[in-house]
Amino acid sequence: MKEDYYEVLGISKNATAAEIKKAYRKKALQYHPDKNPGDSAAEEKFKKSAEAYEVLSDADKKARYDQFGHAAFEGGGGGGFGGGMNMDDIFSQFGDIFGGGFGGGGFGGFGGGGGQRRVKGSNLRIRVSLTLEEIANGVEKKVKVKRKVQAEGVTYKTCTTCNGRGQVTKIQNTILGRMQTAAVCSTCGGSGQILDGKPGDADAQGLKVAEETVSINIPAGVEEGMQLKVPNKGNDAPGNGVPGDLLVAIETQEHSTLKREGDNLHYDLYVSISEAVLGTSKEIDAVGGKVRIKLEAGIQSGKILRLRGKGITSLNGYGAGDILVHVNVWTPKELNKEQREFFEKMQGNDNFEPKPEKSDKSFFEKVKDMFS
Ligand SMILES: [Zn+2]
Repeated sequence: MKEDYYEVLGISKNATAAEIKKAYRKKALQYHPDKNPGDSAAEEKFKKSAEAYEVLSDADKKARYDQFGHAAFEGGGGGGFGGGMNMDDIFSQFGDIFGGGFGGGGFGGFGGGGGQRRVKGSNLRIRVSLTLEEIANGVEKKVKVKRKVQAEGVTYKTCTTCNGRGQVTKIQNTILGRMQTAAVCSTCGGSGQILDGKPGDADAQGLKVAEETVSINIPAGVEEGMQLKVPNKGNDAPGNGVPGDLLVAIETQEHSTLKREGDNLHYDLYVSISEAVLGTSKEIDAVGGKVRIKLEAGIQSGKILRLRGKGITSLNGYGAGDILVHVNVWTPKELNKEQREFFEKMQGNDNFEPKPEKSDKSFFEKVKDMFS
């Protein structure tokens, strides 16, 4: 069970942006690796606070977390929406928190003597349009992506500016005292390597565009506007860098007969007067196939029948919504002579007089029940 982000930072769910920032600042200082050398428990806490802050400091991510919990950030090709931050990500966050001096290359001396920064390639963004059926149970989508990849035959040599370290070291006075900080080498962009030779079809970084089919695991229950992350399927970085990520924006298609509301689906069913009087059975569209539903003789217009568990599988993995079938009795607009005579004969007939019982709840009572 993953720890609650609010608990990680030791704040209440009503904490303001300023309080969140302050709480993170405190945790970051307390568990900073430079203050706790070789203490893996402290490092773990340091990472956890950074992850919590990454989510809670972003209004959009925070809203999703508040609604779905950690489930909001799972799925998507084994990756996730947030989470899984590396030290580079964490230190790049510090510029915002501590103001200047910590961006880019991060704290010098971390992990026992600096070391080379792995340059990350740029992210790619795509949109994926999903049908209700695909959303209902989750789907694996294969999409063609044009990524920049390292061209064959590209060679690199060690950067002479930084001697392959990728960083230039500076001493700075910071809120943590006098510290050695490292700036990214501007010659090689931090990779420690520069291009030596490349084939004609490669760009200045030794990259070229190639089409690749990427498989994206989309969890059930996603909604319009959500974003999934497929790690390492963005553009390659030059040299020994790591690829960027593929960011997948979710779009949803409208269904012809089912309307979504959260994990529930609504379906309007029309029956004739005689079907309502005599009873009938009808086939309705459900996601993933037809479902037959029985209507008792004497069913009232406005009745809502619930098909349990036939809705959308919940994003958090707990169960599924229902299909709510709204019964509408269709009244004919024109009658022939015989039909007219029949209905005229029924005028004033006691059987045809409305006698709503307790079980025939009004529309408003039913709506109230549905959402309680
Ligand atoms: Zn360099």
